[in-house]
Amino acid sequence: MGSCDSQPGLIPFDEALQRLLAGAHVSVVTEIVPVAEALGRVLAEAPVASVSVPPADNSSMDGYAINTADLGANTSLEMSQRIPAGTPPQPLVAGTCARIFTGAEIPQGANAVVMQEDVHLEGDKVVFPADVPVGDNVRSAGQDILAGSQVLAIGTRLQAADLGILASVGLSSVSVYKRLKVAILSTGDELVEPGLPLGAGQIYNSNRYILTGLLQGLGMEVVDLGCVADTREATLAALEKAAASADAIISTGGVSVGEEDHVKSCVEHLGQLDMWKIKIKPGKPVAYGQVKGTPFIGLPGNPTSTLITFCLLARAFLLKLQGASFEPPLQLSVPAGFQRKRAIQRQEYLRVRFEDGCLQPFANQSSGVLMSASWANGIAVIPPQTVVDEGDLVGFIPFSELLG
Ligand code: AMP
Ligand code: MG
Repeated sequence: MGSCDSQPGLIPFDEALQRLLAGAHVSVVTEIVPVAEALGRVLAEAPVASVSVPPADNSSMDGYAINTADLGANTSLEMSQRIPAGTPPQPLVAGTCARIFTGAEIPQGANAVVMQEDVHLEGDKVVFPADVPVGDNVRSAGQDILAGSQVLAIGTRLQAADLGILASVGLSSVSVYKRLKVAILSTGDELVEPGLPLGAGQIYNSNRYILTGLLQGLGMEVVDLGCVADTREATLAALEKAAASADAIISTGGVSVGEEDHVKSCVEHLGQLDMWKIKIKPGKPVAYGQVKGTPFIGLPGNPTSTLITFCLLARAFLLKLQGASFEPPLQLSVPAGFQRKRAIQRQEYLRVRFEDGCLQPFANQSSGVLMSASWANGIAVIPPQTVVDEGDLVGFIPFSELLG
């Protein structure tokens, strides 16, 4: 067989991603969940603040609240009240100061707080420095969020800080999209489940566990259809069951050109195939279409290809079905700590570690070597027809951008 790289008709990565995104429409209904259980969920309605944060001016220091107009050289002021956090203050008596603590409301009539380290006590008077700027150590009402403003956008995948934002405006529940149900099927007569003895010619099914982990990381529900034999009948039956029980289908294996590869023809029989073969390495034979109206992506069987193609293509597609707005993964420019003299026609994704300011590739980049992905902390993106010299800037996508 000639080099796969010279095959015509491979779809460039960017085009494949655009086609997937164009075909992905939110396919789940909404539900209300408690904010405490909303981590990773996707907002279906934009929450609006009914209060400002903070609701009133408050002190950012332990110290003394004053009106700066009362200060001159060596001014000493009597203390007229004590304001701990959580206690509503009285208006400041003119010509006095108030003892105040971090987070306590600024009394009416005060316009600054002097931190306690900057004053000294003389009897029952507090002696202040001369020049205190108006507003010093005061956190103004609404500096974080203004009442009436929209705090988060529809399509936001809620992170810890977002949960804090929702809580800070007093919301205890939010409207989110229901978890996307994704059916997974692992094709291959050679596959055996972990825990069972391995017979001659068999290997353990690792893709099932890779996909389960990836989908759980995205907050999606896995409908696990197990292993599927390499026959047309078994493949048709599994795809039909998947289409009936999930919002999307992801398969692994069986999408290449061998006569044991049944997935594509079965998808065409039950629905339609919209895209096949992408100009990437690893993972060229990715297939995309629908089975009886349910979106389908077929990933190649080699475990590293499964992982990489899921992260770069299926992930974006599924997130859009889930209602999330698509954010391209952060790609940094990092010096290569390696050289690659042979340019290839496909875009290549090397499993690398970013360490000591440069990228080091795993020694064996075969798509059958899953240890490369377990060892790596990200992938280097080598565009088509590109040679790399040590020190060249190379695109680096940390796995943290792709695994959740
Ligand atoms: P295929 O795409 O079906 O030709 O599979 C490509 C390679 O990946 C073969 O070596 C398969 O044995 C292997 N493979 C396929 N599915 C899995 C799986 N679920 N777990 C581990 N290896 C797999
Ligand atoms: Mg196979």
